[in-house]
Amino acid sequence: MKQGGNRQTEKLLMERSVPGRVGTVLPDLDVPAQAMPDSALLRDELPLPEVSEPEVVQYFTGLSLLNFSIDTHFYPLGSCTMKYNPKVNDEIAFLPGFAGIHPMQPVEQSQGALDLLHRLQGFLGEITGLPAVSLATLAGAHGELGGMLMIRAHHLANGDTGRTKVAIPDSAHGTNPASAAMAGFNVVELASDKNGNVDLEGLRQVAGPDLAGVMITLPSTLGLFDTNIVEVCRIVHEAGGLVYGDGANMNALLGRVKLGDLGFDVAHLNLHKTFSTPHGGGGPGAGPVCATQQLAPYLAAPTVTKQGGAFALSTPEKSIGKLSSFHGNFGVLVRAYTYIRTLGDAGIQSISANAVLNANYMMNALRGTYHLPYDRTCMHEAVFSADLQKERGSSGLEIAKRLLDYGFHAPTMYFPLIVHEALMIEPTESETKETIDAFIQALIDIDREVTENTELVNSAPHSTPVARLDEARAARQPDLRWKPEAAA
Ligand SMILES: *Cc1c(COP(=O)(O)O)cnc(C)c1O
Repeated sequence: MKQGGNRQTEKLLMERSVPGRVGTVLPDLDVPAQAMPDSALLRDELPLPEVSEPEVVQYFTGLSLLNFSIDTHFYPLGSCTMKYNPKVNDEIAFLPGFAGIHPMQPVEQSQGALDLLHRLQGFLGEITGLPAVSLATLAGAHGELGGMLMIRAHHLANGDTGRTKVAIPDSAHGTNPASAAMAGFNVVELASDKNGNVDLEGLRQVAGPDLAGVMITLPSTLGLFDTNIVEVCRIVHEAGGLVYGDGANMNALLGRVKLGDLGFDVAHLNLHKTFSTPHGGGGPGAGPVCATQQLAPYLAAPTVTKQGGAFALSTPEKSIGKLSSFHGNFGVLVRAYTYIRTLGDAGIQSISANAVLNANYMMNALRGTYHLPYDRTCMHEAVFSADLQKERGSSGLEIAKRLLDYGFHAPTMYFPLIVHEALMIEPTESETKETIDAFIQALIDIDREVTENTELVNSAPHSTPVARLDEARAARQPDLRWKPEAAA
């Protein structure tokens, strides 16, 4: 990654300190001077950098640019939809009436905010074809837990206590089995067939009186539309089970396919992937749950209802209860609402058109160079295998690291687990053909490098501020603090 000519971040702020230099000027004292607290409460030594304001701005801006981000780089992280999110959505979320509102404010004073949430519930119900919506859950996995608790509540309300099993495909996101287990179910794995669809024969074998339901990601984490999906829903319903949809990555289906029409009973969306909140790094999210009218009584509280002319916060009749302190991550919900309103019907459809077109364009350009285990039209992402490169000495990991030198964030690696040396690439709907072409070329160049100069690839990245980290340790014990020499 290129840095500015004067390498602003090379010298730590503390090391630039010059005694007496200040970054701010305090106004004259206009209140009575106060005595200092007891000196026992004060530190003798408090090393703070003495620097000018521009130095502080340059230093921190420089630091922020050391990382890859969607504002600076193409970020093809499959199953995560790291796309450009229009800045207008942030601007609206920052409006004082939205940003400053307090969740404990009485509903009479929050009618505008509740109106927005009520409309958003309606939009998401329309988009998914699952009209009963709760916005209270704060992440995709959180929505999954909510949906699974609803399925459980539904069976128990019917006196159906023997439904202890939830079947989940082997291509599922890791959160699916975790959520089902947290909701108290035993998880059974469903095999995928050779086309990447759910294996119907395997499903029929588990579809019995102990099956509570299945959890299906659509499109699957192989980036594929399961062409058996209607039959999957039919088999599960016939056995008395319910179908949960993981709609974390809905950008391939928006405005074209409704989960409710396919037979899903309950699903979650990741507003922080599909509906415009940049995520990653653990930022705020929203994983609303959308369900059929039949499951509406079980939704997590609160939902926003309209009674007479006024909006109210309600607890559905047989609600699974509250899953978060208040009404969801309001700022994320405002962004999603703004996004949907600014796009309109036609714009929503263009998301899925471009997401699928971009992914297929990229897939077809790379299919001769990288192995494509499931070779069929993809949805918003394509999953390659680096097996051919590994035979020549470079694994998927080495290729991903080398991409950083080309100025691209790495794709998702080693997921889904059923693809060997997986490279899961999502160009997203918001990138230009020029960017996608440059990315394709980089992967073709790296393939050539694997043959001609394996060591160059296997010691990458060469251009980043730090090279190969112990990734687990870097995440668990990040080194974020400047320490004085002596204590270091
Ligand atoms: C991201 C993702 C999730 C989990 O979402 P979080 O907000 O990270 O909890 C679940 N399923 C799929 C398919 C995903 O891509």
